[in-house]
Amino acid sequence: MKKVGFVSLGCPKNLVDSEVMMGQLKAAGYEITNNADEAETVVVNTCGFIESAKAESVEAILEATGAKANGVTKRVIVAGCLVERYRDDLMKELPEVDAFIGTNEIGRILEAADETKNFKDLPLMSIGNKTATYLYDFDTPRFRATESHTAFIKIAEGCDRPCAFCSIPGMRGSFRSRRFGSILKEAEDLAKQGVKEIVLIAQDSSRFGEDLGEVDALAKLIRALGEIRDLEWIRVMYAYPTHISDAFLEAIRDTPKAVKYLDMPLQHGSRNVLKLMKRGGTRESLEKLIRRVREKVPNITIRTTFITGFPGETETDFEELMMLVRNCEFDNVGVFTYSDEEGTAAYDLPNKVDQKTAKQRRARLMKEQAKISKRKNQAKIGNTYKVLFEGLSQESDLLFQGRLEGQAQEIDGYILINDMPADFEPKVGEFYNVKINEAHNYDLIGEIL
Ligand code: SF4
Repeated sequence: MKKVGFVSLGCPKNLVDSEVMMGQLKAAGYEITNNADEAETVVVNTCGFIESAKAESVEAILEATGAKANGVTKRVIVAGCLVERYRDDLMKELPEVDAFIGTNEIGRILEAADETKNFKDLPLMSIGNKTATYLYDFDTPRFRATESHTAFIKIAEGCDRPCAFCSIPGMRGSFRSRRFGSILKEAEDLAKQGVKEIVLIAQDSSRFGEDLGEVDALAKLIRALGEIRDLEWIRVMYAYPTHISDAFLEAIRDTPKAVKYLDMPLQHGSRNVLKLMKRGGTRESLEKLIRRVREKVPNITIRTTFITGFPGETETDFEELMMLVRNCEFDNVGVFTYSDEEGTAAYDLPNKVDQKTAKQRRARLMKEQAKISKRKNQAKIGNTYKVLFEGLSQESDLLFQGRLEGQAQEIDGYILINDMPADFEPKVGEFYNVKINEAHNYDLIGEIL
């Protein structure tokens, strides 16, 4: 049986693409291996979003072609967003790569893996020269790479928004939703496989169903998923601030299995910068939105992300962003420095901010947020919460870890577990009551009761 190894880079949406490609290969009789030395074929599923991600992708490709040059690997396939963005350059500079497949071509992984075919002679289906249509379905073979108790479901692909810093629409094509029934069936099947937490993802989750003429489809989907018996948690990632409907918030509030959690990148807080980003809004309108969210869904955890150093950002603009963060007291915040990406509208903007200033502003914002997160975490000391147990901590063999409903995997903090009743053996993927005894900036420490 031929062995295939996968390197999956970038965001959870790209991970789902890797899982779909692995699923198709496995269904066709290949063996998926995580041992690079025994992989006859290596697939590098790349990210092309920002400079650092692109560099990481190129490094992974060169590692794979290096293994091929050393006779360890026979075939190298490069997939994903970097291919969509730089296909011609990559094909010219990396002739040792056997096949390049874009984000609209993951259904062609078997052709690409077929050694009898010279994939480069086959017609392309890249987003550049075709309307992107690819969407996986509930019965598309999928080999999941996440923990057995949690799974991502991609509910839509692509994006039509004009955010000036973003290259994603060019790499993922126009916005297109999956069918409601297909997602429901997939979730039911995943629940039967023991999945407890479903994480709904898209580039722009809030617009789910809109292109199919449906209204408030995301709200209806959350309620429908809430009926699936064995599921425990339903989480939505990547909501868009201008599309937070009352129906959506009420569905989160009224559906017991919907985690009281909102991931909504805001990117900035100043009217000037939001306008330059082609996102619109003001600090006041965003503060009003956050108040509405908290009124509708009490105790909801709010996660957001910001960019510092966007072209044209002044110290006054940055102070406006700091004021938004102080006034809103978000639970979890990610901050990125602006990456100057050719092909985006921002690339042609004047008044670029030097990286040193962008990084200093990022550090100041993170310092401010760390104080807020710590204060909020300290307010949890003495309380008991339902925790999804996830086994040994990544930080120490002396600790276990889990997540509260307000903690999404990998991007938010964890609850570290340092005590439990004698002879008690918790199971990964099960839920336990945990009392919080200690709190830090991002992590909490507690005991299983
Ligand atoms: S919503 Fe904006 S930032 Fe997000 S993928 Fe679309 S264009 Fe990019």
